Amino acid sequence: MTHESARHIANAVLESIDAEIAGNAAQAERLLVDLVSFRSVNPLQPGVNGADYEGEERRANEALAAALTPLGFEINWIEVAQGRPNLVGVLPGTGGGRSLALNGHIDTVAPQAGRFADPWTAVIEDGYLYGLGAADMKAGHAAMWLAAAGLRNAGVSLKGDLHVHSVVGEETMSHEIGTTAILEAGYAVDGALIAEPTSPAPQLLNVSNAAAGNYLFSLTIRGKSAHWAARNLAIRAGGAGDAIGVNAIDKAVYVYNAMRQLEEQWAFTKKHPSFAPGAFIIHPGVLRADIGVEAAPFFPDRARIDYLLSFPPGNTAEQIRAEVEEHIRLASQMDPWLREHPVEFIWTDTWPPAYTDPSEDFVQTVMSARTELAGIDGRVTPLDAPITAAAQSDANFYEAFGIPALVCGPGDVRNAHAANERVALENITAAARLIARTALSWCGTN
Ligand SMILES: [Zn+2]
Repeated sequence: MTHESARHIANAVLESIDAEIAGNAAQAERLLVDLVSFRSVNPLQPGVNGADYEGEERRANEALAAALTPLGFEINWIEVAQGRPNLVGVLPGTGGGRSLALNGHIDTVAPQAGRFADPWTAVIEDGYLYGLGAADMKAGHAAMWLAAAGLRNAGVSLKGDLHVHSVVGEETMSHEIGTTAILEAGYAVDGALIAEPTSPAPQLLNVSNAAAGNYLFSLTIRGKSAHWAARNLAIRAGGAGDAIGVNAIDKAVYVYNAMRQLEEQWAFTKKHPSFAPGAFIIHPGVLRADIGVEAAPFFPDRARIDYLLSFPPGNTAEQIRAEVEEHIRLASQMDPWLREHPVEFIWTDTWPPAYTDPSEDFVQTVMSARTELAGIDGRVTPLDAPITAAAQSDANFYEAFGIPALVCGPGDVRNAHAANERVALENITAAARLIARTALSWCGTN
């Protein structure tokens, strides 16, 4: 066969896949309406009564399993948290190809008051589907299904296995019961595509290979209560200083400034090719000081500052934690009170950074599939290189297993975690076309 005729056959296959994707789009839409109807709110989110949503992640995953079965997927359940199983669908390849996982989380954030009385009843309006989890990220599941349906109906058999990893617990960073549990159960793959929202209108299907890590923590600074009128004796020459009282607000401001200084240093010391200079921040989000009740006529004896910081790929959470604590410890050495009353740290939640090198084969494969799609679909704007994600995803947990991972999906992250969440329906077919092309060239076909 000549090169020319091979290319003609390849184009004919792609045309047939695209036609099947277009032909099954209405069914993908019905699947999305169905998935949205399950109240698969992450039960462990702050402010959520878990009992209200018991079993809903499972029911949503069962609906997806029922849709994947007719496409030839073998269905497996990985259940680490009781009652919250992950779905692993495997479409076995004919052999000799690389495997690909399509990853999506089935849990959503809690509902918010919006235009619609029931966030679980999808409403279609002007080409958008509204509903909780529509963009983040059940539209991703619909696109995976549509890609698999397109491949199957076009008569394509892949050489490598095609997986669907539909996980629970993502919205609370509970990867150990979700994506990590699947990988630990032995479902490792050669590449992973996470269909989180990366389509901020009018851009479509951005591909992201990097995300910052972050860490949520809080500081408690101790003071010593006294009558407010003793302030002059506590802070001015001639008084007894700390023996009278210590205002925790004064000490918190000192600590705040020390942290601000570290943040300024980070602008120069924390660098990464995927991030703009100064991208890594130590954001103070809550500041509170009092004597246990809000009463101004006292020296507050405690202050708390809650921070959320971001850090680059290449650093670990342990390193960041040690660096921040050491900086505050050293700064405290210059203050007699803080030297004797060290700042107390509580490190709450961390999410590791993500980074897959753009020179990886997998990145090249996805990017050329995307370039090819951009050539025939004017809505997909050309992209020279993968971009840095605004939000965290499960990508880094594949990378932790040595699996290259990228994020690309049909939703717009700007209306994820928002009232009136929606997804443009045409984005689902575009995402399916990209996923099908990726699977075809990554997994191979005969
Ligand atoms: Zn998400």
